[in-house]
Amino acid sequence: MQIPFYGRYIPENEESTLIRLLKTDPLHSDGAASRRLQGLFRESFGCEHILLTPSCSHSLELACRLLNLQPGEEVILPSFNFPSAANAVLLAGGRPVLCDIDPRTQTLCLADVQRKITKRTRAVIAVHYAGLSCDMDALLALAREARIEVIEDAAQAVGAYYRGKPLGTLGRFGCYSFHSTKNISCGEGGALICGSRDVRAAQIFRDKGTNRCDYLAREAARYTWVGVGSSPVLSEVSCALLLCQMQAVREITAKRNTLMHAYLDVLRPLQTRGSAELMHIPDYAQGNGHLFYIRLPSAALRERAMALLLGAGVDARTHYVPLHLSPMGEKLGYRPQDLPHSLHTGDTLLRLPLHTNMNESHIRYVAEILKRVD
Ligand SMILES: *Cc1c(COP(=O)(O)O)cnc(C)c1O
Repeated sequence: MQIPFYGRYIPENEESTLIRLLKTDPLHSDGAASRRLQGLFRESFGCEHILLTPSCSHSLELACRLLNLQPGEEVILPSFNFPSAANAVLLAGGRPVLCDIDPRTQTLCLADVQRKITKRTRAVIAVHYAGLSCDMDALLALAREARIEVIEDAAQAVGAYYRGKPLGTLGRFGCYSFHSTKNISCGEGGALICGSRDVRAAQIFRDKGTNRCDYLAREAARYTWVGVGSSPVLSEVSCALLLCQMQAVREITAKRNTLMHAYLDVLRPLQTRGSAELMHIPDYAQGNGHLFYIRLPSAALRERAMALLLGAGVDARTHYVPLHLSPMGEKLGYRPQDLPHSLHTGDTLLRLPLHTNMNESHIRYVAEILKRVD
């Protein structure tokens, strides 16, 4: 049996929606597809404002830019992460400060965040790894007390909840990804979620530094250059593809969650006998089945498990090289043992295939192979 790592969900109405779009004019941003998509997001997840961008990376850059960081100001983020959030801090003129993760969830370790807060700290970026967050009430309380902002890197968390609240809507900014590897996708795409306090500044930047948003709202007769800006917009073609996916978000999430729970059920004996630790879902979380991972007792056993799976046609994969171990992390002055949990998770975590083209017989097949690892 061959089980690929990713599999695209193809909505039934995709082709007809695209064909209809091709007959509309004009095709630039804020057209019918993006407006319907924004409406659907607001309806589904209760976000106040949403700007569709070319990627989660662009959304993180916009969020960090809107903080108006001064040179030397710091933003804390976890080392076990993709580089986008760290790049966003650097591009906005700030200093990324890497912190460790909680080995139960692979998300921010709150005690380490607390230790790393200085008078120069402006924000913390929470990465919802695998669609699961840290204890957001505790993080928000800590941030309030320290007077710093919370940005959610919710790239993996579309359709996931913390105590019933949609992830991506809890901090000052939330950033989603619609990259092909994510639950809801249009190849490349992203979104910035924000409140009324930030939306105007975000729109001005997104509209090439103009007050085009006032013009569209009929609050200005013409529009003009009012600030620094660029054009991080998602094309209408991508919006149309994404709209079809969003219309199926409940179905996609339910299917992925079913597969995630099937993995948990069939792999439980591995955890009982100490051969692997399964992904942990905290009580406060309602996940979105974005990915499924196990952690092996050592790096050598991880390699062995991965080789066995690949040999049997199952595309299993490691994940991030922790940022503090990367050449850039080294340049920023980090040593491997500075963040021991990130180091260990980077060495031992293994992701198993999980997508909507799979069913429970695939999960049982993967489990049979993993039973041979010891
Ligand atoms: C996928 C991902 C990103 C990057 O998303 P793009 O849309 O490709 O820019 C950033 N952060 C995390 C945690 C991700 O999983």
